[in-house]
Amino acid sequence: MPLKRILILGGTREARDLANQLAGLGCDVTSSLAGVTENPALPAGHVRRGGFGGVKGLAQYLSVERYDHVIDATHPFAAQISKHAAQACQETDTRLLRLERKAWTAAAGDQWISAADFPSACDSLPHGAPVMMTLGRKEIAIFFARADLRGVVRMIEPPDVDVPPAFKLVLQRPPFSLSGELALMREHRVGFLLCKNSGGPRPEKLDAARELAVPVIMVERPGKPEVQTVETCDEVVARLFGRGARTG
Ligand code: NAP
Repeated sequence: MPLKRILILGGTREARDLANQLAGLGCDVTSSLAGVTENPALPAGHVRRGGFGGVKGLAQYLSVERYDHVIDATHPFAAQISKHAAQACQETDTRLLRLERKAWTAAAGDQWISAADFPSACDSLPHGAPVMMTLGRKEIAIFFARADLRGVVRMIEPPDVDVPPAFKLVLQRPPFSLSGELALMREHRVGFLLCKNSGGPRPEKLDAARELAVPVIMVERPGKPEVQTVETCDEVVARLFGRGARTG
């Protein structure tokens, strides 16, 4: 099997899994991280941290490094880097593949209200709503700006803005249990769950919301450029090396 030089645009669990899988196959893998998370779990292979400096910087980097493939395995809500990757790969004639986990879909018993983006999600919350929010640092500010809302906000890292007194901040990393999610929602008498459609395995918070008949405001994914896309690491390997190259 020929050694391939691969750049993975990462920051996700699947990017890490892919780097480990490709390194195990003998590829020369570099994972690129935005550098926003403190002490991230590191994949096998080389790791570079920090932005490239827009499309121009990324195109310059690709021209020098001459990767055989770029795999965009960034989070479905990381829209800017995917846009930059599509443009820079086109400019430098570098092959690009996106690895993107499948979006969640509502199952029987779910009460989901779909929102196209964060401002519409904010508008769809009724006055005074008790809400549980599971959002990232960049997304939270517009919800905190609504003085009538209250409840609980769960994040991995603390927000850059002040948390209003009507909200309890819970800093916690997955995994979460169904009993824990039910307890958190009951404790804060949550009337709405607000989350973004990150996708992947269905999380316990959605099951807890269904069990408690709590409506979910589901923020849908931002648009990304149309590029070849697969949903699993095995599919990436199959595209790079041919159909029989599964590594389990
Ligand atoms: P974004 O808005 O799409 O990107 C903002 C800027 O950060 C990009 O223009 C780029 O800077 C830099 N950047 C982003 N990902 C990078 C990477 N993998 N390697 C090098 N530079 C990168 O991204 P975001 O939503 O802030 O997310 C940042 C990172 O966190 C992403 O890598 C993503 O996979 C991960 N993440 C995001 C979320 C989420 O909900 N957004 C959730 C989990 C993990 P330059 O223009 O200077 O190149």
